[in-house]
Amino acid sequence: MPHLRPFVAAVVRPIPITTREQRIQELDRAGHNPFNIQADRVSIDLLSDSGTGAVSVDQQAWAQRADERYAGAESYYRFRESVRDIVPYRHVLPVHQGRAAERVLFTALLGPGKISLSNTHFDTTRANVERLGAAAWDLPCPEAQDLDADLPFKGNIDVEAVRNVLAGPDGHRVGQILVTITNNGGGGQPVSMANLEAISAVARTHGVPLILDAARFAENAWLVTQREPGYEQWSPRAVARRAFELADGAVASLKKDGLSPEGAFIGLHDTDLADRCEVDIIATEGFRTYGGLTGHTLEQLAQGLREVLDPHYLADREREAAFLADRAREVGVDTVRPSGLHGIYLNAGRLLPHLQPRHFPGHSLACALYREGGIRAAELGSLYLGELDANNELVTPAPFELVRLALPRRVYDHSHLEYVADILAGIAKNPERVPGYRISHAPQVLRHFRCRTEPIAV
Ligand SMILES: *Cc1c(COP(=O)(O)O)cnc(C)c1O
Repeated sequence: MPHLRPFVAAVVRPIPITTREQRIQELDRAGHNPFNIQADRVSIDLLSDSGTGAVSVDQQAWAQRADERYAGAESYYRFRESVRDIVPYRHVLPVHQGRAAERVLFTALLGPGKISLSNTHFDTTRANVERLGAAAWDLPCPEAQDLDADLPFKGNIDVEAVRNVLAGPDGHRVGQILVTITNNGGGGQPVSMANLEAISAVARTHGVPLILDAARFAENAWLVTQREPGYEQWSPRAVARRAFELADGAVASLKKDGLSPEGAFIGLHDTDLADRCEVDIIATEGFRTYGGLTGHTLEQLAQGLREVLDPHYLADREREAAFLADRAREVGVDTVRPSGLHGIYLNAGRLLPHLQPRHFPGHSLACALYREGGIRAAELGSLYLGELDANNELVTPAPFELVRLALPRRVYDHSHLEYVADILAGIAKNPERVPGYRISHAPQVLRHFRCRTEPIAV
């Protein structure tokens, strides 16, 4: 059976078609930082898959019925029912986005001297652990270090390493085990059910809460049905439910698999813990039945959560990501393997061997994608993760120099991805022409969002 995309565009947004000259000007104006580029100068925006998807006609229709009353609105109950169809926790607390969920839950679970163990803490997640004076330790499985290994579950947490920490001198300081599904900071790789079961048993033995950071719970569930023996016949919904059952609670940004521009929730079994979170939410986000979200958004989320576990939608998303990854490799740009769903990761270090890490090859490729094709992407390399000295010279590079092409949900079609591959092909023909960069201005915190850079002569 040939593949059929399970949706069509119902409303369209024109995209700007720019000249190379205009893009060079815009890059200059933006201090050669993609985050500073005005979106109306971007043709294909692959900066993030967060909050950037298209909503469905049913999401729009439900949003029209929003109940915006302050407390106990109908929209909240529809939202809660939708979440509970997937997430079997007694308490579901909406908040405005994932990082708010992290802030609230971690404040209740962690404090100075505590440790959070994870397969990989996402950047805001790490920030929310560290601002409490706690430490965020990443313990990914060893296979995660091999970008080229075509293994099914490179997002797994290293269960042995977790066990060793818990049994060692720091064991009593561990306040939570946080498993990110899929592992965003680790290339969007999925976590297996076997791994979740093993870590769940370890967490129970040691009396430490196991929390899922479940921003891409549906994509993880889909990859389990495709890759894990024993789950071939399971529905993505059944897998997602089982994953949540194995944990004691979850934080989830719904800007990803909620198919909405905003929203998140905290889900918990423990009533005491939920009470403490609720007080914080009322003080900082909004009353417990809206948590800073409009009824409009709660309805959009309730419907988005009904749609996101559709196997046809998930199969399509996997296929589109694989298509772009295959085309990238065909034209000579290696990607992290295997490709997941929410984006593909280009190996810029390998494509641009003439650039040292201190000339930021990932950033160079991201700038080249914009200059040559009006494509916006995010660097995940030394500009973001490396360590700089006082003169903004790189002293410790990141382990890899990657560029993420994130795929907004239901937005770009095959022809857009073909265009991206064509631009990549043009760059890969003469990679030595891509200039390196130096940092001209770097703020102390959240550098990659705010720095300015300049191209250097190679
Ligand atoms: C996006 C994301 C977050 C933060 O969520 P926001 O809604 O952007 O605040 C946390 N963890 C993971 C894994 C994410 O992908």
